[in-house]
Amino acid sequence: MTRAVIAIHGGAGALSRSTTSAAREQQYRQQLHDIVAAGQQILAAGGSALDAVTDAVRRLEACPLFNAGRGAVFTHQGTHELDASIMDGRTLQAGAVAGVSHIEHPILAARKVLEASPHVLLIGAGAEAFAVAQGLEPVAADFFSTPERLAQLLRVRDSNTTQLDHDAAATPLDEDRKLGTVGAVALDLHGNLAAATSTGGMTNKQAGRVGDSPLIGAGCYASNDSVAVSCTGTGEVFMRTLAAYDVAAQMKYAGRSLQQATASVIHDTIPELEGSGGLIAVDAQGNLALPFNSEGMYRGFAYVEGAVEVAIYRDS
Ligand code: ASP
Repeated sequence: MTRAVIAIHGGAGALSRSTTSAAREQQYRQQLHDIVAAGQQILAAGGSALDAVTDAVRRLEACPLFNAGRGAVFTHQGTHELDASIMDGRTLQAGAVAGVSHIEHPILAARKVLEASPHVLLIGAGAEAFAVAQGLEPVAADFFSTPERLAQLLRVRDSNTTQLDHDAAATPLDEDRKLGTVGAVALDLHGNLAAATSTGGMTNKQAGRVGDSPLIGAGCYASNDSVAVSCTGTGEVFMRTLAAYDVAAQMKYAGRSLQQATASVIHDTIPELEGSGGLIAVDAQGNLALPFNSEGMYRGFAYVEGAVEVAIYRDS
């Protein structure tokens, strides 16, 4: 019997308990819990891993606490440019969009690319036109804006730095420096793996910048013969190391376990290039790994017949 399981993340970053209000922390925990529980139900009903990760990321995008969809961070120019990707471990089909500003749920656009296009990655206006032609509703560019994210941009814009979404004060993660990308990985009852990732990118990023999240092999990867992976962190470093695929390659070619492969990427490879962040991964046997090298990572998981587990910090 397959150990069907879903895991999600809401980004990694510099988390400080001292700056966290208990009420705000509880909001994060509740959202993570409810989204995992919804994914658990899809899997329990015999739904596919692909559907479970699509639904989980769509819900994470809809929640303004996370840096994806509504609540996405601002570019330096004061706009929003969203990236998302999804991969089916059964068929190795993948779909992704980058630099979209008018699609409410970038992950649904990525799923349409996977299903209804011969391509893997569509960008900007072309991606938006494709998504609308596929039946997704366009939204105005300011749909994604929240006052919190604007304040965040204004704090860092003059510093000439980009910031990972969960890294500042006032929330469980330091909001100005957190890596607020969202993602999901799942193994379904049929033994199939899938992964999905979605992000607003990094606060104060240059307009036109694309990170690891929509790049198959960097921020997202799934193959039934090894693992499903979704990453969050300093995108440029995850791109240069092909972080998600590196986990799969270590397992496939070097015979490493899920724990060994994910630890090597997150605790050796990424920090060696001065990157920070984490990932969630599930292998074909239903083993899970949720490592991060930052202070914390919003995360949760549930096996089909188990309890929903949620954590933010290293110890809980
Ligand atoms: N990896 C994302 C990016 O570089 C940021 C994040 O994980 O928050 O766009």
